[in-house]
Amino acid sequence: MSGKIVKAIKISTPNFLIVGGGIIGLSSALELARRGASVTVLERGACGSESSWAGGGILSPLLPWNYPAAVTNLTQLSCQIYAEWAGHIAGISGLDPEYRRSGMLVLPEFDSGRAMNWGRSHQARIELVQKRDRLPEVVGDGEALWLPDVAQVRNPRLIKALRLTLERMGVRILEHVEVAGIVAGGGRLVRLDTSVGPFEADQYVVAAGAWSKKLLGEQGVQVDIKPIRGQMLLYRAQPGLLRHIVLQNGFYLIPRDDGHILAGSTLEDAGFDKSTSEEVRSGLHANAISLLPQLAQAELVKHWAGLRPGSPGNIPVIACHPKIENLYLNSGHFRYGVTMAPASARILANRIFRREQPFDVSPYHWPEIKKH
Ligand SMILES: Cc1cc2nc3c(=O)[nH]c(=O)nc-3n(C[C@H](O)[C@H](O)[C@H](O)COP(=O)(O)OP(=O)(O)OC[C@H]3O[C@@H](n4cnc5c(N)ncnc54)[C@H](O)[C@@H]3O)c2cc1C
Repeated sequence: MSGKIVKAIKISTPNFLIVGGGIIGLSSALELARRGASVTVLERGACGSESSWAGGGILSPLLPWNYPAAVTNLTQLSCQIYAEWAGHIAGISGLDPEYRRSGMLVLPEFDSGRAMNWGRSHQARIELVQKRDRLPEVVGDGEALWLPDVAQVRNPRLIKALRLTLERMGVRILEHVEVAGIVAGGGRLVRLDTSVGPFEADQYVVAAGAWSKKLLGEQGVQVDIKPIRGQMLLYRAQPGLLRHIVLQNGFYLIPRDDGHILAGSTLEDAGFDKSTSEEVRSGLHANAISLLPQLAQAELVKHWAGLRPGSPGNIPVIACHPKIENLYLNSGHFRYGVTMAPASARILANRIFRREQPFDVSPYHWPEIKKH
């Protein structure tokens, strides 16, 4: 040793730093790692413990015919690739995310003409059926819309499987690391300041859900993402009591393999407050037993709230910052982030690696301040 002081050489600067370990951050990490990138995920708590845990896991918009093309394109691409995507994750992790094509029955009121037209023009099977033929266990008679291809995942299990898959693929996941600020200079992001010190990378992806705008600070003033609270109930019932997802006037029941049934949900503009209320609990419970009276005897095991990353028109931002060339945002998936995750990750990676996109992705641009 010569005694000369040598400056530390960084052997492996991660190519990508992703902020947020929800379904969007983790699926972005998977897509980037699959394309050969080196990826680190920074998560302030435990991965998937926010909205991605709180959600229901229905893989479809609730009434898909009521949404613009920007939502349809993203959700339909996801639905096309979900089975293979979930299978890949299950294969590597050895954990079953319970991807199931359980079908969804929509009870009145609905515009059947509009729904059937939409189904025909989007190659989505929608049938007008008698409710009693399809789901006799649910109260009421008359016509219903049957969407046989609607699937679901058990989102907490999907997150667990996804996290393990990423670790096995060599993605670094750092939990309990909070990003406190982003530092930009010369048209580039230069570092993230975190609770355990600074982090640097070549490229940065913010996927911090309802907190994305807060985290971006002055770099995100134009971004319109805000928390929208949703409360949910969970029952423990007999397996097979309810066979399909059922939806009426925005209220739904989702059956899981082991007999658990989720009942949700609310849409509340309450800021970053995740508390639950007794009033909502009894409202959701009343709705649940009016559809499926046997739930009155089932154990109500849990009541929770999560914060969706709300966005205008339910259209996320999947784009590069207009002035910071290495800062990307994948956020604002609002009511359908679990559904949109694999397609959003693909769109993001296509943008980053300048690959052809499967459809018009201009609606997911990073909004700029309008000049007068
Ligand atoms: C009640 C309810 C029902 C839902 N039902 C469905 C459904 O049936 N189907 C569907 O497709 N979608 C559903 N959703 C929506 C879906 O859950 C969300 O769109 C999706 O989870 C958003 O994922 P995300 O990764 O962007 O956000 P999140 O899961 O909230 O993840 C963001 C992560 O970023 C982390 N983070 C934030 N700030 C920082 C920071 N400064 N530093 C480090 N980490 C940070 C957070 O801790 C969090 O883990 C539902 C949501 C709710 C609440």
